[in-house]
Amino acid sequence: MSEHKRNNVVQELNSQLERGSLFAHTALGENAMRLAQLQAVVHGLADLLIAQGSISGSDLAKSIQHADEELRQRGEQLGPGTLIRVDTIEDTPAAAVVDCESRLHICQAVCCRLNFALSVEEIEDGHVRWDLGLPYHIRKQPNGCCVHQNGKGCSIYDHRPGVCRRYSCARDPRIWTDFEGMRLNHEWIAASLGEASRPRATAVLMHRIEPKGESS
Ligand code: SF4
Ligand code: SF4
Repeated sequence: MSEHKRNNVVQELNSQLERGSLFAHTALGENAMRLAQLQAVVHGLADLLIAQGSISGSDLAKSIQHADEELRQRGEQLGPGTLIRVDTIEDTPAAAVVDCESRLHICQAVCCRLNFALSVEEIEDGHVRWDLGLPYHIRKQPNGCCVHQNGKGCSIYDHRPGVCRRYSCARDPRIWTDFEGMRLNHEWIAASLGEASRPRATAVLMHRIEPKGESS
């Protein structure tokens, strides 16, 4: 390729990049304006209803929290869905012991099908792969299982995310209807972690607790 032609290709790529950035920024700007307008209307309406005694502030707060949780579960929140996990002291309760070895023949490491966001440290560390289509959640295989679960265990065990280190299914009613009796919660698992479904358990997973040193 001649130098002239190469310069043209680079110029065209630069131009495409500029156009792409312009598009993204314009779209973001328009959305921000619409959201600001919507926010003003909703705040004005809420203030008016509270001032008139039609609703109470605490009822409104509960209703908002409920709607927010439903939208989160259905993955219908506004925005690109980008999420980064921030762990706090409350997210790291005392460890609970789970003997994974004795349960794997039943659970089939179903905990590795759960969805969760990575922390900045885990992303920067570079060992854990995140889903490019749902940044920065753990990357899944087409069957819904974590890409690091190789059928024998966690292939990045020494570098596994904090939620995996802290998680225990012992207190997770989504996994077991009867932990001691080893009865799985087939209903929730099929509905939430089935092959065709995209797990949306992020918020709950942020509070996973510590398993005994076994690959989950
Ligand atoms: S932590 Fe995971 S692998 Fe271990 S018993 Fe529970 S579901 Fe199974
Ligand atoms: S323990 Fe390993 S395989 Fe399981 S979800 Fe975590 S990173 Fe994935």
